Amino acid sequence: AVDLPESQSPPVAPAKLPPGMILDKDGKPCRSCNSKASFSQWAQQTRSSLKSGVGPAAGAAAAAAATATTVNLPQAANDCPPDVEALGRSTWTLLHTIAANYPKSPSYKEQSDLKTFMGVFSRLYPCWVCAEDFQKYMEKEQIRVDGRNEFGTWLCEAHNAVNTKLGKPVFDCSKWEERWRTGWKD
Ligand code: FAD
Repeated sequence: AVDLPESQSPPVAPAKLPPGMILDKDGKPCRSCNSKASFSQWAQQTRSSLKSGVGPAAGAAAAAAATATTVNLPQAANDCPPDVEALGRSTWTLLHTIAANYPKSPSYKEQSDLKTFMGVFSRLYPCWVCAEDFQKYMEKEQIRVDGRNEFGTWLCEAHNAVNTKLGKPVFDCSKWEERWRTGWKD
């Protein structure tokens, strides 16, 4: 993967972006919004362009080289920043585990904390396209925080809305506690 420090990263992407590539608000490919496959394709194009000295990224590299002695292009490593899928899986794990540990009868403060957390989460989620859709979902389907099962089921339905959007099978929400709290019944 191309892993240029912020100050050395090309200010412009290669002219031809892979189809469907989601850009960040600064116009660069968004790591947290794309799959590793499409990000790697873009990175490969950038790497070739830098090596051959041809293409828009090459000019940027030349400019970077004028101010820095090395441009670090490490080979693919396992410890890479997360793509949209790795980020999503880890995040769902955190959210469903919060639901699994949420009290059956939460205090007013616990309910208020959870509401605040989910509201802030929906604005800070690093995949901005995901975040925008999730905010819309939260506007449409009011969050339920009055107990573990209520929140766990609301979250399961929210996750299913994303599953449906991505063409994935929906999860049976009567089983969310088995998946995330008690373990599967034998
Ligand atoms: P995941 O969907 O990550 O699920 C992880 C595990 O949760 C599954 O293996 C299953 O055991 C369990 N599970 C599945 N469904 C449910 C459910 N309904 N309730 C309880 N448990 C369940 N990706 C995009 O490409 N575009 C988006 O717009 C997008 N929006 C997202 C919004 C949010 C808030 C989050 C957290 C993630 C979003 N993602 C999005 C990522 C996407 O949802 C997946 O996480 C990612 O595609 C990896 O999917 P996966 O098949 O590994 O399983």
